[in-house]
Order: sequence, then C-alpha cells, then structure tokens
Amino acid sequence: MTVRVCVLGPSGRMGRAVIDAAAGRGDLAITAAVDRPEAPGLGGAIAGVAATADIGAGLDACDVYVDFTTPAATRAVAIAATPRRRAAVIGTTGLTAADEEAVAALVQVAPVVVAANFSLGVNLVLGLVRRAARTLGPEWDAEVVETHHRAKRDAPSGTALAIARAIAAGHGSDYDRVKRHTRDGEIGARPRGEIGVSTVRGGDVVGEHTAYFFGAGERIEIGHRATSRAIFAAGALRAATWAVGQPPGRYDMLDVLGLV
Ligand code: NAD
Repeated sequence: MTVRVCVLGPSGRMGRAVIDAAAGRGDLAITAAVDRPEAPGLGGAIAGVAATADIGAGLDACDVYVDFTTPAATRAVAIAATPRRRAAVIGTTGLTAADEEAVAALVQVAPVVVAANFSLGVNLVLGLVRRAARTLGPEWDAEVVETHHRAKRDAPSGTALAIARAIAAGHGSDYDRVKRHTRDGEIGARPRGEIGVSTVRGGDVVGEHTAYFFGAGERIEIGHRATSRAIFAAGALRAATWAVGQPPGRYDMLDVLGLV
C-alpha cells in the first residue's frame, strides 16, 4: 500500500525537507501540499508538488498529514482534521494550551505522532539523560543548553524542553516547579534540583543540544548536533507510514522507533 501524505508548509524549511525526503520512495507519495494563502510559490509546484491553500481538499487527499508550521496553523489544521479522523504527524513546537487542546481532540479519533524532534539521535539522548538523572540524582546540577539558527521563533526549543523534562522524570521531580529558563541579575545561589535551560541563537545552526550534569570535581555532557534537516524529515516520514493503521491515540518517536 502506498501511504498518501499531505505536507503542510511546503515553502518552509521543514516542509521542503519533507518533500525532498519523499522523492523516489515507493511506500509513500506526497498527494497534497497546503500552505498559507500568502505563502511564496502558492498556486505553482514546489519541488514538483502542487501547493494550494485549501486545507479541506488537502486533508481529503491523504491518509496522513505532516505538520511543521506554526502553532496557530497546527491548531487550525487539527480542528479541520478531527471530523475527518485524519492521522497526523506533528512537529511544530511552541504550542500553547489552546493548541494542545485542539491536538487532544484529534488524538481521540485518530493516531497522532507528536515529537519536538524526529531524529533517532535525539530520541536516544532523551533516554540517556533520563537514565543519567536517575543515577546521579539532583545533587548533580543539571543544565541544558540549546543553539539554533537566527530565524527560530520559539525559545527554549521544544527539544531542549523535552530533554529537561526527561531529566526531571529521572529525578522524580515536577519540571514546572524546578525549571529555570533564563538567569539575569541577582539570582542568588543555585537551588538544589533546579533544571536550567539556556538559549543561544545565531546564523544557520540546524540544532544543537547539550545536557550537563555537574558533580563535585567532575562533569558529564550528553550532546547532540543536527547538521541536516533531512534527519527530521526522514523521521517524520517514518512516523507517517507507521501511524496509518494504528488505533487512535497520542504517540511519540519512541513508539515509532519501538524504543518503549
Ligand atoms: P518555517 O518558517 O521555515 O516554515 C513554516 C511553514 O509553515 C511556512 O511554509 C509557512 O508558510 C507555513 N504555514 C504557516 N501558516 C500556515 C497555515 N495556516 N497552513 C499551512 N502552512 C502554514 O519553519 P521551519 O523551520 O520549517 O519550522 C517549522 C516548525 O517545525 C517550527 O515550530 C520548528 O520549531 C519545528 N521543527 C520541528 C522539528 C522536529 O523534529 N520536531 C525539526 C525542525 C523544526
């Protein structure tokens, strides 16, 4: 069976990478590409795929849609996909509570893979940091530093938050109570168990994340560097072919990769 895929945001960095990654594959086909009405290239073909602004037609022409867009677009498309029970792969980061609500409604009726990062490497890192945090405990100060290109809109990155949450899970702590996303001014001594996340922005960096565990007299660093968006695109397409036929529910890349 050839899985029919609708790509959202074909004019964007990730949308384009998904179309490129699908080229020449027999197990799936890009059957629709949907962008915002004022997007560049709309009405023509982007990498051979006709791009329109008709989300209803795009969802009707696919088995699963792949979404790397903006939080507002992710919400609007999830609302349109719910009555259609359309499978989804969602990689957009920075979702608000209202956006998450729309995704949660779709999850009730369709299989939905949601991941802040679709690379195999980062998903392994999530497991490694959880394990490290569990072994070391909150006595080892945990910090996450992320670096991305200058056009990235949200901070900290969704991947940095996923890593920080994995550390909190390893500590057995409530992330929202121990997080520290920025430091500035008279901040006082670092409280035990705090998990810091720092953001660096510049140039064309695809994505770099390092988790630090600072002990007394020693330190561990667990890091990941993405040098190409192709890894996220390939992972998203793997998630798309995996999702079709799964029961309704919310899944992540660990489910897709069989790492749970
Ligand atoms: P981008 O700005 O290059 O592309 C966004 C695209 O969304 C554009 O083509 C834009 O026209 C389109 N868009 C906006 N509104 C739309 C709408 N209503 N309908 C359809 N399309 C619409 O951004 P990017 O670098 O490709 O990143 C997109 C998102 O993916 C960000 O949230 C980013 O953080 C995330 N991301 C996730 C991963 C991952 O592995 N999960 C990897 C890279 C980026």
